[in-house]
Order: sequence, then C-alpha cells, then structure tokens
Amino acid sequence: MSCEHLICARCAGPVVEGRCATCRAARAEIHHSGPLAISPILIGALILALTFVIALKFGLH
Ligand SMILES: [Zn+2]
Repeated sequence: MSCEHLICARCAGPVVEGRCATCRAARAEIHHSGPLAISPILIGALILALTFVIALKFGLH
C-alpha cells in the first residue's frame, strides 16, 4: 500500500497532497518509514521459513 492511495480522516483528501497538518504529518511519517515498511514482511517470511525448517527437521526424525 502506497501513500497515493491513503485518504485523510481529517480533510478527506489524498494524504499525498498534504492539504492539512494531519496529511503532512502522515505523509512525512510514511516517507520516513518507507524502507522500514518492508521489514515486518521480511521478519514474517523469516519466521515462516524458520518454522518450516524446524518442522522439517522434527518431521525427519
Ligand atoms: Zn488531511
């Protein structure tokens, strides 16, 4: 989900346009935490892979 598709709850405008302070704050936060937004997905994938490896290891014995 990208910034362009977000609608502000305060001014009902696209957050990307930055019509109000809430928009600008949200937009800044999104752009600031942009690369970090991938991290939870990577962590989730890592946990899933680890669980699969552990299950495979226990399944073989
Ligand atoms: Zn707004």
